[in-house]
Amino acid sequence: MLRLGHRPERDKRITTHVALVARAFGANGFILEGICDDSITASIKGVLERWGGEMHLECGVNGKSYVRRWRGEGGRVVHLTMYGLPLDFVVEEIRADPNPKLVIVGAEKVERFYYEAADWNVAVGNQPHSEVAALALFLDRLYRGRELYTRYPRARLEIRPSRRGKSVVSSSEPG
Ligand code: SAM
Repeated sequence: MLRLGHRPERDKRITTHVALVARAFGANGFILEGICDDSITASIKGVLERWGGEMHLECGVNGKSYVRRWRGEGGRVVHLTMYGLPLDFVVEEIRADPNPKLVIVGAEKVERFYYEAADWNVAVGNQPHSEVAALALFLDRLYRGRELYTRYPRARLEIRPSRRGKSVVSSSEPG
């Protein structure tokens, strides 16, 4: 997924949440456009180290070039925006498309380029809310909820679900 418009002075927490939702809901990469923010990279790496899994991480990329290259290599682009087509109308078409997908979320105003470059502009409802909620709902519908049961390779910590309390299994030898 590609996160546009990160403003380090005010978006640290929400951009970190975008990245964590991407990981926990089935995306395999997190790309930060325009800037690198060490605190965000450190948070994601810390979670990957403890809770396992792999994610392709990149930062400071030129968003437009990234999207052009992605499309040039045969990938498809999904842009989440409240102005797009309703999620329920397009999710089956997106799921049926066999090409790799780049999911884009913004922070503030998203440039026209991304609306035009997207194969699908997808609205998770037509009300303004949050990139975190939009990404979570989109991925959940795309994967039909199955992503919630992913087991992450090389996890040092795993939760044993329990009715009450916190049960965490910890392994010093990941694998
Ligand atoms: N006013 C901004 C705009 O015109 O794009 C939206 C800002 S919103 C806080 C940040 C991001 O959340 C958007 O760029 C979009 O990716 C996502 N978002 C917010 N509401 C959404 C919705 N209803 N459907 C899909 N994505 C949404």
